[in-house]
Amino acid sequence: MNKPTATEKVFQGIGVSPGVAHGKIFVYSVAEEAVPQYDINDEDVPKELNRFEQALIKTRAQLHELQRRIETGTGASVLTNIVEVHLALTEDPVLIDQVGKLLSEEKKNVDFIFHKVAQRYVQTLSTLDDEFFRERAVDVQDVCRRILRNLLGHEHRELSSLPPDTIVIAYDLAPTDTTALDRTHVLGFATDVGSHTSHTAIMARSMNLPAVVGLRDISQKVHDGQPAILDGYSGTVIVDPSPQTLFVYGQLEVKRHNVRERLAQLRDLPAETLDHHRVTLAGNIELPEDVPALKQVGAEGIGLFRTEFLYLKRPDFPSEDEQYETYAKVVREMAPHAVIIRTLDLGGDKFHSEESKVPEINPFLGFRGIRFCLGRPDIFETQLRAILRASAHGNVMVMYPMISHVGEVIQANEILEQVKASLRQKQIPFDENIQVGAMIEVPSAALTAEMIAQEVDFFSIGSNDLIQYTMAVDRVNEKVANLYEPTNPAILRLIRNTVESAHNNNIWVGVCGEMAGDPLFAPLLVGMGVDELSMGASNLPRVKEVIRRMTYQEAQELAAASLHATNGRDVLGMLQALLERVDPDLLI
Ligand code: PEP
Ligand code: MG
Repeated sequence: MNKPTATEKVFQGIGVSPGVAHGKIFVYSVAEEAVPQYDINDEDVPKELNRFEQALIKTRAQLHELQRRIETGTGASVLTNIVEVHLALTEDPVLIDQVGKLLSEEKKNVDFIFHKVAQRYVQTLSTLDDEFFRERAVDVQDVCRRILRNLLGHEHRELSSLPPDTIVIAYDLAPTDTTALDRTHVLGFATDVGSHTSHTAIMARSMNLPAVVGLRDISQKVHDGQPAILDGYSGTVIVDPSPQTLFVYGQLEVKRHNVRERLAQLRDLPAETLDHHRVTLAGNIELPEDVPALKQVGAEGIGLFRTEFLYLKRPDFPSEDEQYETYAKVVREMAPHAVIIRTLDLGGDKFHSEESKVPEINPFLGFRGIRFCLGRPDIFETQLRAILRASAHGNVMVMYPMISHVGEVIQANEILEQVKASLRQKQIPFDENIQVGAMIEVPSAALTAEMIAQEVDFFSIGSNDLIQYTMAVDRVNEKVANLYEPTNPAILRLIRNTVESAHNNNIWVGVCGEMAGDPLFAPLLVGMGVDELSMGASNLPRVKEVIRRMTYQEAQELAAASLHATNGRDVLGMLQALLERVDPDLLI
């Protein structure tokens, strides 16, 4: 890229979802709301109270507007329950009376007092024994942030309704934020924190939107309305681009557009190598809204439906019927292709409001995935019943996340059998031959894959977590992103062991982590014998292209050579050389 001019500013981060967006900046969140603190006089008290009252009125008006948009179908329906609770909280006497009392006692500005009261309130609720009150803590925190912004005169940021051609810049985007994102107007997003496999990145790829993460402090250095180019290929965000930069990007965009058009022709062609070895290319989704983009690129099924997104941003758990409707919709839309529904993988960096009350010190090593499911059989059984009922409408498979030993699979299967028996008894239809799979994403599972293979019909390698747990690298921490190495000899050995164990036991094996959707790594996985690759919609055409332009034999040779390499860099070099040879356009 050309040098920045005096006015344009270039921010370098990690490009995590391909594409270029050219639009106007919308700053969603900065690292912390800074709350000023100053003394006031007795006569200022009524004035400060009035400011507080005005902030509450404004907050209620915003929430009513949000409610109206949900009712008219222009707002994200996932927020329905939340808005109700938030509205009630703006009338909460505990909160309001306490602010008045403390204001008179301490004589400080009302923003400061309110912040203090709100923090105390959240703290008290989170430590109560009663589950209902603990659930309220997250809502109180959310609504208090909104009130505080109104007090401080900061405009409230609503991700569910954005101006056209928006590039969202944020300190971070929680899974709940991205769920509510207005998909019609957002062109791309960029965050201060995050890495290639953080959920912001994953979500961006599913939504087919360019994204850059790990930009460190961009959210504090830009402001609303500034024109910007977000380059999801190179990981740059250029703010106030010069005419020269716009020209260079214009040309590059023409080239990339031509490549996209060329790859779009592959939509209905098989992912088959030149010597006729075929693999299945499926898609990853977080929400039913992700399905059309996958159909558009010709995905042969859903290789990973991350169901935990149905559980976020709400105080309760989704009912069996609600889940059934959601799953059945996806299954019908994808028929006759398979839909692999992963049972909920809460924990790590995705929490239901109940769990986030008592934070764990090491959430990625904690009560996550199948551990949560087995610890909360009530929630697990409800989900299994919904999945089984949906299996009557097409080809459904069920998959368990975060398996660390075979015992967990056996226990989960027992629960599945009990749920099947109860459905049979009630004569509720489901697929008696539903396939069951285990995610292999913990090193202990990869090492004991031979044992696990005997209990399931397929494996799906979750490379995102497998790399995190094997290399001891937090997948969402940009400071250690350089250690996150998919080609490391340790990772390749674990993948090889998993594939061999699957095939020795006559079951198939897929990869649904981000490695599968990278045209650089896909040939290596194919060469190792992986049967299915599942990825976000934006990557599928590029992966199909590389598979169709290589031979299975060279992929196998590449895999064998990679397994002899003593470091990940050499493997990367071999993979880059292959891509350069088969289609260098995939590297621009
Ligand atoms: C993985 O770990 O590779 C995976 C696909 O699961 P998730 O990213 O949802 O943890
Ligand atoms: Mg995982």
